[in-house]
Amino acid sequence: MPSRPRTSSVPTPTTREACAELDAADPLAAFRDEFVLPEGVIYLDGNSLGALPKATPGRVADLVEREWGQGLIRSWNDAGWWDKPRTLGAALAPLVGAAPHEVVVGDGTSANLFKTLVAALRLNPGRRVVLGEPGNFPTDLYVTQGVAGLVDGVEHRLADPDDPERIAAALAAGDVAVVLLSHVDYRTGALRDMAGITAAAHAHGALAVWDLCHSVGAVPIDLTGCQVDFAVGCTYKYLNGGPGGPAFTYVAERHHADARQPITGWHGHARPFDFTGEYVPAAGASRFLSGSQPLVAAAALEASLEMWSRVDLRQVRAKSLVLTDLFRSMAEAAGLAALTPRAAERRGSQVALRHPDGYAIVRALIERGVIGDFRAPDVLRFGFAPLYLRHVDVFDAATALAEVVESGEWRQPRFAERATASGPVT
Ligand SMILES: *Cc1c(COP(=O)(O)O)cnc(C)c1O
Repeated sequence: MPSRPRTSSVPTPTTREACAELDAADPLAAFRDEFVLPEGVIYLDGNSLGALPKATPGRVADLVEREWGQGLIRSWNDAGWWDKPRTLGAALAPLVGAAPHEVVVGDGTSANLFKTLVAALRLNPGRRVVLGEPGNFPTDLYVTQGVAGLVDGVEHRLADPDDPERIAAALAAGDVAVVLLSHVDYRTGALRDMAGITAAAHAHGALAVWDLCHSVGAVPIDLTGCQVDFAVGCTYKYLNGGPGGPAFTYVAERHHADARQPITGWHGHARPFDFTGEYVPAAGASRFLSGSQPLVAAAALEASLEMWSRVDLRQVRAKSLVLTDLFRSMAEAAGLAALTPRAAERRGSQVALRHPDGYAIVRALIERGVIGDFRAPDVLRFGFAPLYLRHVDVFDAATALAEVVESGEWRQPRFAERATASGPVT
């Protein structure tokens, strides 16, 4: 394997033995045993749907059987159901560098994008431009288009956040109301300069909304230090909250008094049990709530957040950089080109590779038990979740990838057939 510039603090291991040594010294090693991991599978899709914590089924069963079955309606108080969006928000807050009262959990990312985008536009009434990025996850673009169709005069402009000059030029126009970007690009894994872009937005009179879907649980985040205005993110990727789990909304404290979101339901009311006919927003981030939440799903998230409360994100980041360097260097040695930036400060916890036959290669890998995913037109995407992946797993997965590519195994016709509309390869 050719030598590579070092991009993490630990030199990239080059043998399976060296990987096993790193595993033996890994401060996060014990977390692996807290997950259900199917036999014979190396799971490199934790950036899309995180693995199941062993504690989750018991917590969900407890909610169903005891809190619902026995407690019935009393559980709104006795089991803390009413306050769940706030207590889960407070549990999640340290993972994004927020104060406990600045985060609420509820609804989905797309809905929370809508709420925060409209709230940010209302806080900047003289302006009507939303600056987004052309390669953002489609729902972010679609929701912005929806807001533009609803609020008179809103214009959706796009600039590439991986090129600071384009963002600077777009902001210099002086009419941007809100910047909406993803912290980590879902396709390339590029990590954006949250502090720099947020400061530039503020300097030009714009607010900043960040989508943390691909960074929460993968990299340390400092929303307070970066002075971010609003942020949203999902919990089913690196946070292991379960499929379709509730998302979160961050509202900086300085906006608590004035922010107005558009879905003014009773859970966001100042006195919901007065049942009056007039909407009065609750104090703080609670005003971003709308209606009743899926509490069974919230119980699954509660179990995973209990685990995350014991995790040191600096250790997650340090291990993630080694795992991604290892996978990337082995993939490059096998002749695959990486799309993910090389510099540590410019990438999240994934490695994206390009190959015109990426679909068939990913299918062939899945047959070998290495689960990654494919994003059209030619991106092979591998996510690295340091809580349950060992260095030897990554070494074995990259070895399998090299074998699939070098042997031409992926050329077998069955790998070219587009399987189902759902599943890991879509
Ligand atoms: C995963 C992801 C979403 C998901 O949105 P949902 O409403 O949960 O379907 C949104 N934005 C980004 C950037 C994502 O990566």
